[in-house]
Amino acid sequence: MATTRIARELLVAGIIEEFELDRAKRGERALGRPKVGLRIAACGLFAAGITVSAYHSEVSICDANGQLVASRKVQDIPLFDAVQTGRHYAKALRALIDESGFDLQRFVGIGVALSARTDPVTGRIVMSEYFGWGEDNGGFCEEVRNVINLPVEIENIANALAIAEMRFGSARDLSEFTLIHAATFVGAGVVSDSRLVRGVSGISGLIGHFRTAEQPLTCVCGRHDCLNLAATGFSLLSRLGLLDHQVFDRSKLSFYASTILDKLADEASVTPLREAGSNLALAVDNIVKLLGPERVILSGHLGTNEDYFEGARQALEEQYGVGNILVRGEISSVRSAALLALHAYCYLDRLDYDRFAETAPAKGRSHG
Ligand SMILES: [Zn+2]
Repeated sequence: MATTRIARELLVAGIIEEFELDRAKRGERALGRPKVGLRIAACGLFAAGITVSAYHSEVSICDANGQLVASRKVQDIPLFDAVQTGRHYAKALRALIDESGFDLQRFVGIGVALSARTDPVTGRIVMSEYFGWGEDNGGFCEEVRNVINLPVEIENIANALAIAEMRFGSARDLSEFTLIHAATFVGAGVVSDSRLVRGVSGISGLIGHFRTAEQPLTCVCGRHDCLNLAATGFSLLSRLGLLDHQVFDRSKLSFYASTILDKLADEASVTPLREAGSNLALAVDNIVKLLGPERVILSGHLGTNEDYFEGARQALEEQYGVGNILVRGEISSVRSAALLALHAYCYLDRLDYDRFAETAPAKGRSHG
Protein backbone atom coordinates (compact mmCIF):
# COMPACT_ATOMS: atom_id res chain seq x y z
CA MET A 1 0.00 0.00 0.00
CA ALA A 2 2.81 2.36 0.91
CA THR A 3 4.51 1.63 -2.42
CA THR A 4 1.30 2.35 -4.34
CA ARG A 5 0.79 5.62 -2.46
CA ILE A 6 4.40 6.77 -2.99
CA ALA A 7 4.31 5.79 -6.67
CA ARG A 8 1.06 7.75 -7.11
CA GLU A 9 2.60 10.82 -5.47
CA LEU A 10 5.69 10.64 -7.68
CA LEU A 11 3.46 10.22 -10.76
CA VAL A 12 1.44 13.29 -9.75
CA ALA A 13 4.65 15.27 -9.37
CA GLY A 14 5.75 14.16 -12.85
CA ILE A 15 8.94 12.59 -11.43
CA ILE A 16 8.19 9.06 -12.64
CA GLU A 17 6.10 7.82 -15.55
CA GLU A 18 4.24 4.67 -16.49
CA PHE A 19 5.07 2.46 -19.45
CA GLU A 20 3.53 -0.75 -20.74
CA LEU A 21 5.62 -3.85 -20.05
CA ASP A 22 6.15 -6.07 -23.05
CA ARG A 23 3.93 -9.14 -22.42
CA ALA A 24 5.57 -11.28 -25.09
CA LYS A 25 9.02 -10.78 -23.56
CA ARG A 26 7.76 -11.84 -20.15
CA GLY A 27 6.01 -14.92 -21.61
CA GLU A 28 2.62 -13.92 -20.23
CA ARG A 29 -0.79 -14.76 -21.64
CA ALA A 30 -2.72 -11.74 -22.87
CA LEU A 31 -5.36 -11.84 -20.15
CA GLY A 32 -6.62 -9.10 -17.85
CA ARG A 33 -5.35 -5.58 -17.47
CA PRO A 34 -1.85 -5.04 -18.98
CA LYS A 35 0.83 -4.63 -16.32
CA VAL A 36 2.37 -1.21 -16.09
CA GLY A 37 6.02 -0.49 -15.39
CA LEU A 38 7.33 2.61 -13.64
CA ARG A 39 10.45 4.50 -14.61
CA ILE A 40 12.07 7.84 -13.92
CA ALA A 41 10.70 10.49 -16.28
CA ALA A 42 13.90 11.79 -17.90
CA CYS A 43 12.46 15.27 -18.44
CA GLY A 44 10.49 15.32 -15.19
CA LEU A 45 13.38 16.91 -13.32
CA PHE A 46 16.67 18.56 -14.21
CA ALA A 47 19.89 19.45 -12.40
CA ALA A 48 22.38 22.19 -13.22
CA GLY A 49 26.15 22.23 -12.80
CA ILE A 50 29.02 24.70 -12.47
CA THR A 51 32.54 23.38 -13.05
CA VAL A 52 35.16 25.90 -11.94
CA SER A 53 38.32 24.95 -13.76
CA ALA A 54 41.18 26.45 -15.70
CA TYR A 55 40.57 23.70 -18.30
CA HIS A 56 37.03 23.44 -19.62
CA SER A 57 35.14 25.90 -17.49
CA GLU A 58 31.54 25.05 -18.16
CA VAL A 59 27.98 25.37 -16.97
CA SER A 60 25.71 22.45 -17.72
CA ILE A 61 22.27 20.85 -17.40
CA CYS A 62 21.46 17.15 -17.06
CA ASP A 63 18.12 15.33 -17.06
CA ALA A 64 16.81 13.06 -14.30
CA ASN A 65 18.66 10.07 -15.79
CA GLY A 66 21.97 11.95 -15.59
CA GLN A 67 22.35 12.62 -19.32
CA LEU A 68 23.91 15.95 -20.23
CA VAL A 69 21.28 17.89 -22.20
CA ALA A 70 22.99 21.31 -22.46
CA SER A 71 26.35 22.83 -21.66
CA ARG A 72 28.34 25.95 -22.43
CA LYS A 73 31.92 27.11 -21.96
CA VAL A 74 32.44 30.10 -19.70
CA GLN A 75 35.00 32.69 -20.82
CA ASP A 76 37.08 35.37 -19.07
CA ILE A 77 36.64 34.05 -15.56
CA PRO A 78 37.94 36.25 -12.71
CA LEU A 79 39.58 33.37 -10.80
CA PHE A 80 41.32 35.61 -8.23
CA ASP A 81 38.23 36.04 -6.04
CA ALA A 82 35.73 33.32 -5.00
CA VAL A 83 32.69 35.61 -4.79
CA GLN A 84 33.30 37.30 -8.15
CA THR A 85 33.92 33.89 -9.70
CA GLY A 86 30.61 32.66 -8.28
CA ARG A 87 28.70 35.60 -9.77
CA HIS A 88 30.34 35.16 -13.17
CA TYR A 89 29.43 31.45 -13.41
CA ALA A 90 25.92 32.00 -12.02
CA LYS A 91 25.12 34.53 -14.76
CA ALA A 92 26.40 32.14 -17.44
CA LEU A 93 24.31 29.29 -15.98
CA ARG A 94 21.22 31.51 -15.77
CA ALA A 95 21.60 32.36 -19.46
CA LEU A 96 21.99 28.68 -20.36
CA ILE A 97 18.85 27.68 -18.40
CA ASP A 98 16.81 30.54 -19.94
CA GLU A 99 17.93 29.66 -23.47
CA SER A 100 17.44 25.90 -22.95
CA GLY A 101 13.68 26.39 -22.60
CA PHE A 102 13.52 23.99 -19.61
CA ASP A 103 11.23 25.15 -16.81
CA LEU A 104 13.33 26.53 -13.92
CA GLN A 105 10.67 25.15 -11.53
CA ARG A 106 11.69 21.61 -12.55
CA PHE A 107 15.34 22.02 -11.49
CA VAL A 108 16.25 20.19 -8.27
CA GLY A 109 19.34 22.31 -7.64
CA ILE A 110 22.83 23.35 -8.72
CA GLY A 111 26.05 21.41 -8.18
CA VAL A 112 29.41 23.18 -7.97
CA ALA A 113 32.65 21.23 -8.51
CA LEU A 114 35.99 22.95 -7.99
CA SER A 115 39.55 22.54 -6.73
CA ALA A 116 38.94 23.64 -3.17
CA ARG A 117 38.31 22.24 0.26
CA THR A 118 34.60 22.76 0.97
CA ASP A 119 32.07 22.19 3.71
CA PRO A 120 28.96 21.00 1.83
CA VAL A 121 26.82 21.19 5.01
CA THR A 122 27.27 24.96 5.35
CA GLY A 123 28.03 25.58 1.65
CA ARG A 124 31.39 27.21 2.48
CA ILE A 125 34.65 27.16 0.60
CA VAL A 126 37.16 26.54 3.41
CA MET A 127 40.21 27.28 1.25
CA SER A 128 41.73 26.61 -2.16
CA GLU A 129 45.46 26.06 -2.56
CA TYR A 130 44.99 25.89 -6.32
CA PHE A 131 43.12 29.18 -6.76
CA GLY A 132 44.73 30.84 -3.72
CA TRP A 133 41.39 31.49 -1.98
CA GLY A 134 40.83 31.62 1.76
CA GLU A 135 37.58 31.02 3.69
CA ASP A 136 34.67 32.52 1.67
CA ASN A 137 32.00 32.34 4.45
CA GLY A 138 29.59 30.87 1.91
CA GLY A 139 30.00 33.84 -0.46
CA PHE A 140 30.36 31.78 -3.65
CA CYS A 141 27.14 29.80 -3.11
CA GLU A 142 25.28 32.93 -1.99
CA GLU A 143 26.17 34.67 -5.26
CA VAL A 144 24.86 31.67 -7.19
CA ARG A 145 21.59 31.64 -5.20
CA ASN A 146 21.18 35.40 -5.72
CA VAL A 147 21.17 34.87 -9.49
CA ILE A 148 19.28 31.53 -9.52
CA ASN A 149 17.02 30.77 -6.57
CA LEU A 150 17.80 27.06 -6.21
CA PRO A 151 19.61 24.95 -3.59
CA VAL A 152 23.37 24.74 -4.19
CA GLU A 153 25.66 21.80 -3.35
CA ILE A 154 29.42 22.53 -3.44
CA GLU A 155 32.16 19.89 -3.49
CA ASN A 156 35.81 19.43 -4.16
CA ILE A 157 36.26 18.17 -7.74
CA ALA A 158 37.64 14.76 -6.69
CA ASN A 159 34.69 14.24 -4.32
CA ALA A 160 32.17 15.37 -6.96
CA LEU A 161 33.69 12.91 -9.44
CA ALA A 162 33.66 10.12 -6.82
CA ILE A 163 29.95 10.70 -6.12
CA ALA A 164 29.18 10.84 -9.86
CA GLU A 165 31.15 7.66 -10.62
CA MET A 166 29.45 5.89 -7.69
CA ARG A 167 25.96 6.70 -8.94
CA PHE A 168 26.37 6.87 -12.72
CA GLY A 169 29.83 5.65 -13.75
CA SER A 170 32.61 3.11 -13.25
CA ALA A 171 32.01 2.74 -9.48
CA ARG A 172 28.30 1.83 -9.77
CA ASP A 173 28.52 -1.44 -7.86
CA LEU A 174 31.39 -0.46 -5.55
CA SER A 175 31.20 0.58 -1.91
CA GLU A 176 35.00 0.83 -1.34
CA PHE A 177 37.05 2.83 -3.83
CA THR A 178 39.36 5.80 -4.19
CA LEU A 179 39.20 8.25 -7.09
CA ILE A 180 42.38 10.07 -8.06
CA HIS A 181 41.90 13.28 -10.02
CA ALA A 182 45.09 14.04 -11.96
CA ALA A 183 45.35 17.30 -13.92
CA THR A 184 47.67 20.26 -13.22
CA PHE A 185 47.88 18.91 -9.65
CA VAL A 186 46.61 15.70 -8.12
CA GLY A 187 44.03 14.99 -5.39
CA ALA A 188 41.82 12.13 -4.26
CA GLY A 189 38.25 11.38 -3.20
CA VAL A 190 37.96 8.43 -0.81
CA VAL A 191 34.76 6.37 -0.55
CA SER A 192 34.33 3.78 2.18
CA ASP A 193 31.10 1.93 2.93
CA SER A 194 29.52 3.97 0.08
CA ARG A 195 30.27 7.25 1.89
CA LEU A 196 32.84 9.95 1.28
CA VAL A 197 35.63 10.00 3.85
CA ARG A 198 36.06 13.71 4.56
CA GLY A 199 38.40 13.80 7.53
CA VAL A 200 38.60 16.74 9.93
CA SER A 201 37.36 19.92 8.16
CA GLY A 202 37.22 18.06 4.84
CA ILE A 203 41.00 17.70 4.69
CA SER A 204 41.12 14.10 3.37
CA GLY A 205 42.48 13.24 -0.07
CA LEU A 206 45.47 15.62 -0.16
CA ILE A 207 47.67 13.09 -1.93
CA GLY A 208 49.29 15.91 -3.92
CA HIS A 209 51.49 16.47 -0.86
CA PHE A 210 52.49 12.81 -0.48
CA ARG A 211 56.31 12.82 -0.33
CA THR A 212 58.20 11.45 -3.31
CA ALA A 213 61.57 12.00 -5.03
CA GLU A 214 62.84 15.59 -4.94
CA GLN A 215 62.16 17.66 -8.10
CA PRO A 216 63.59 20.94 -9.42
CA LEU A 217 60.16 22.50 -8.77
CA THR A 218 58.38 24.13 -5.82
CA CYS A 219 54.87 23.11 -4.67
CA VAL A 220 52.24 25.58 -3.34
CA CYS A 221 53.26 24.31 0.14
CA GLY A 222 56.90 25.34 -0.41
CA ARG A 223 58.32 21.81 -0.62
CA HIS A 224 60.25 20.21 -3.49
CA ASP A 225 59.28 16.57 -2.95
CA CYS A 226 55.47 16.58 -3.34
CA LEU A 227 53.58 14.25 -5.68
CA ASN A 228 52.18 17.47 -7.26
CA LEU A 229 55.66 17.96 -8.78
CA ALA A 230 56.18 14.41 -10.08
CA ALA A 231 52.92 12.82 -11.25
CA THR A 232 51.00 15.78 -12.67
CA GLY A 233 50.49 18.13 -15.60
CA PHE A 234 52.75 20.64 -13.85
CA SER A 235 55.57 18.07 -13.86
CA LEU A 236 54.83 17.23 -17.51
CA LEU A 237 55.32 20.88 -18.50
CA SER A 238 58.62 20.94 -16.63
CA ARG A 239 59.83 17.74 -18.31
CA LEU A 240 58.91 19.10 -21.72
CA GLY A 241 60.96 22.24 -20.98
CA LEU A 242 57.88 24.49 -21.25
CA LEU A 243 58.29 26.32 -17.93
CA ASP A 244 60.42 29.45 -17.51
CA HIS A 245 59.97 29.24 -13.73
CA GLN A 246 60.24 26.59 -11.00
CA VAL A 247 57.73 27.81 -8.42
CA PHE A 248 54.06 27.01 -9.08
CA ASP A 249 52.49 30.34 -10.12
CA ARG A 250 48.71 30.83 -9.67
CA SER A 251 48.65 33.69 -12.18
CA LYS A 252 49.50 31.09 -14.85
CA LEU A 253 46.65 28.57 -14.24
CA SER A 254 45.17 29.15 -17.72
CA PHE A 255 48.58 28.82 -19.36
CA TYR A 256 49.23 25.54 -17.50
CA ALA A 257 45.81 24.12 -18.44
CA SER A 258 45.83 25.09 -22.11
CA THR A 259 49.46 23.95 -22.63
CA ILE A 260 48.82 20.61 -20.89
CA LEU A 261 45.72 19.99 -23.04
CA ASP A 262 47.71 20.90 -26.12
CA LYS A 263 50.58 18.54 -25.23
CA LEU A 264 48.43 15.53 -24.26
CA ALA A 265 47.94 14.63 -27.92
CA ASP A 266 51.58 15.33 -28.84
CA GLU A 267 53.83 12.39 -29.85
CA ALA A 268 56.73 13.93 -27.87
CA SER A 269 54.64 13.65 -24.69
CA VAL A 270 54.24 9.85 -24.70
CA THR A 271 57.37 9.09 -22.64
CA PRO A 272 57.04 11.96 -20.11
CA LEU A 273 53.34 11.11 -19.68
CA ARG A 274 54.19 7.47 -18.95
CA GLU A 275 56.86 8.63 -16.49
CA ALA A 276 54.39 10.93 -14.73
CA GLY A 277 51.92 8.03 -14.54
CA SER A 278 54.55 5.66 -13.16
CA ASN A 279 55.36 8.24 -10.44
CA LEU A 280 51.81 7.76 -9.16
CA ALA A 281 52.29 4.03 -8.51
CA LEU A 282 53.75 4.27 -4.99
CA ALA A 283 50.91 6.56 -3.86
CA VAL A 284 48.33 4.15 -5.30
CA ASP A 285 50.01 1.22 -3.57
CA ASN A 286 49.95 3.12 -0.26
CA ILE A 287 46.24 3.82 -0.75
CA VAL A 288 45.60 0.16 -1.60
CA LYS A 289 47.44 -1.04 1.52
CA LEU A 290 45.81 1.52 3.82
CA LEU A 291 42.21 1.38 2.62
CA GLY A 292 41.84 -1.92 0.77
CA PRO A 293 39.65 -0.49 -2.02
CA GLU A 294 37.96 -2.66 -4.66
CA ARG A 295 39.15 -0.26 -7.36
CA VAL A 296 41.21 2.91 -7.75
CA ILE A 297 39.73 5.16 -10.44
CA LEU A 298 41.94 7.54 -12.40
CA SER A 299 40.11 10.67 -13.48
CA GLY A 300 40.85 14.12 -14.89
CA HIS A 301 42.60 15.18 -18.11
CA LEU A 302 45.82 13.38 -17.14
CA GLY A 303 44.28 10.47 -15.25
CA THR A 304 42.16 9.38 -18.23
CA ASN A 305 44.98 9.93 -20.73
CA GLU A 306 45.97 6.59 -22.27
CA ASP A 307 49.75 7.01 -21.81
CA TYR A 308 49.55 8.36 -18.26
CA PHE A 309 47.12 5.61 -17.26
CA GLU A 310 49.25 2.91 -18.87
CA GLY A 311 52.40 4.27 -17.15
CA ALA A 312 50.65 4.08 -13.78
CA ARG A 313 49.12 0.64 -14.43
CA GLN A 314 52.39 -0.86 -15.64
CA ALA A 315 54.48 0.48 -12.74
CA LEU A 316 51.83 -0.67 -10.29
CA GLU A 317 51.87 -4.15 -11.81
CA GLU A 318 55.66 -4.48 -12.10
CA GLN A 319 56.57 -2.96 -8.73
CA TYR A 320 53.62 -3.95 -6.54
CA GLY A 321 51.68 -6.63 -8.46
CA VAL A 322 48.33 -4.78 -8.26
CA GLY A 323 48.00 -3.22 -11.74
CA ASN A 324 44.49 -4.58 -12.22
CA ILE A 325 43.09 -2.43 -9.40
CA LEU A 326 43.23 0.65 -11.67
CA VAL A 327 40.31 1.70 -13.88
CA ARG A 328 39.68 4.82 -15.86
CA GLY A 329 36.86 7.16 -14.86
CA GLU A 330 33.84 7.50 -17.16
CA ILE A 331 32.49 10.86 -16.01
CA SER A 332 33.87 14.23 -17.12
CA SER A 333 34.34 17.01 -14.57
CA VAL A 334 31.71 19.07 -16.45
CA ARG A 335 29.07 16.35 -16.06
CA SER A 336 30.09 15.62 -12.44
CA ALA A 337 28.88 19.05 -11.25
CA ALA A 338 25.32 18.54 -12.53
CA LEU A 339 25.32 14.91 -11.34
CA LEU A 340 26.35 16.14 -7.88
CA ALA A 341 23.13 18.19 -7.70
CA LEU A 342 21.09 15.29 -9.08
CA HIS A 343 22.57 12.99 -6.42
CA ALA A 344 22.04 15.46 -3.58
CA TYR A 345 18.56 16.76 -4.42
CA CYS A 346 16.90 13.98 -6.41
CA TYR A 347 18.33 10.60 -5.39
CA LEU A 348 18.71 11.27 -1.67
CA ASP A 349 15.90 11.97 0.80
CA ARG A 350 16.48 15.68 0.22
CA LEU A 351 14.13 15.58 -2.81
CA ASP A 352 11.71 18.49 -2.28
CA TYR A 353 8.62 16.55 -3.32
CA ASP A 354 6.12 19.26 -2.35
CA ARG A 355 7.78 21.85 -4.60
CA PHE A 356 7.53 19.57 -7.65
CA ALA A 357 4.00 18.40 -6.86
CA GLU A 358 2.87 22.05 -7.01
CA THR A 359 4.42 22.60 -10.42
CA ALA A 360 3.68 19.19 -11.93
CA PRO A 361 3.38 19.01 -15.72
CA ALA A 362 -0.28 18.78 -16.84
CA LYS A 363 -0.03 15.21 -18.12
CA GLY A 364 0.98 13.92 -14.72
CA ARG A 365 -2.15 15.23 -13.03
CA SER A 366 -4.55 12.67 -14.49
CA HIS A 367 -3.04 10.01 -12.24
CA GLY A 368 -4.10 11.84 -9.09
ZN1 LIG B 1 53.14 20.24 -1.51
